[in-house]
Amino acid sequence: MRAVVFDEFGGPATVREVPDPFPAPHGAVVRVAATGLCRSDWHGWAGHDRTIALPHVPGHELAGVVEAVGEDVRGWRSGDRVTVPFVCACGACGQCASGNHQVCERQTQPGFTGWGSFAELVALDHADVNLVGLPDAVDTVAAAGLGCRVATAYRAVSAQGRVRPGQWVAVHGCGGVGLSAVMVAVAAGARVAALDVSPTALDLARSMGAEVTVHAGDEDAVAVVREVSGGGAHVSLDTLGSEVTCAASIRCLRPRGRHVQVGLLPPDLGHPAVPMARVIALELEIVGSHGMAAHDYGELLSLVASGRLRPDLLVTRRLTLDEAGPALAAMGEPGYPAGVTVVLLAGVAQ
Ligand SMILES: [Zn+2]
Ligand SMILES: [Zn+2]
Repeated sequence: MRAVVFDEFGGPATVREVPDPFPAPHGAVVRVAATGLCRSDWHGWAGHDRTIALPHVPGHELAGVVEAVGEDVRGWRSGDRVTVPFVCACGACGQCASGNHQVCERQTQPGFTGWGSFAELVALDHADVNLVGLPDAVDTVAAAGLGCRVATAYRAVSAQGRVRPGQWVAVHGCGGVGLSAVMVAVAAGARVAALDVSPTALDLARSMGAEVTVHAGDEDAVAVVREVSGGGAHVSLDTLGSEVTCAASIRCLRPRGRHVQVGLLPPDLGHPAVPMARVIALELEIVGSHGMAAHDYGELLSLVASGRLRPDLLVTRRLTLDEAGPALAAMGEPGYPAGVTVVLLAGVAQ
């Protein structure tokens, strides 16, 4: 098969022929139709996740068609249209037994613990636990985001953020997951303040229904959020993952507000200073959010199928597999295009 491969962290990521994967007894091989470019792919390429073994194929938010299944798989067969949460759970550990597959103790992640979806084929573990069938009404480009950015945003806003209609939600960072969070929060009836340094990203946030947009580089950005929300946001998300956005998210909350950390903060980049004095004084809540279990996808799929959530509108660039490597490397550079980039695989029905 053709796949985007890199041999060293931060080095060239180029397409070459590699052996086809085959399914584990409990696993499946999926023919990739579309795969999104996510900031965590960039972190992996840049070397912020040293558990990645080289050479490596990135990519973890995908939609496609089942090509083959292992002998123990009961629920899926070749030809099924699917997506998969980026956390592939084991289905058998204590966390899985409690339904929390997104924090499975023996999880695997395509594009991190193994080769990912910047390829014609990708092997996925525990297919019966992890594959998610796609309704016909959910197109492939929209579905590519359901493995990471949209599902992550959905769980961060609804389950971890516990956002209620009429509440103020601040979203720090309007990349793929941030814009998805804006869309999900608006659909939940919340009032949204979106923050980013890119005017184009803020325009997109406004088009997704953000009521207020704030240039995150401004000194008074946090004060503006507190002002417009009448004393601070009820819920605030750091969807970028940086010391600055994490702290700003906590500082813009009202008393007893809730901060949800979504963007990765790789230890390799240092441990961020978190304003814990404010957490205590205002009795703030800090929670993390890490993908979403396959069995929780039903409501999200209905919202997308019915058109109430439109992840396709976030997609601003469609690339070929050959263009994926250079685009991945450019993700850490200033001037990286706003909105979501999706790689479409040639010759696969979309
Ligand atoms: Zn991702
Ligand atoms: Zn597990």
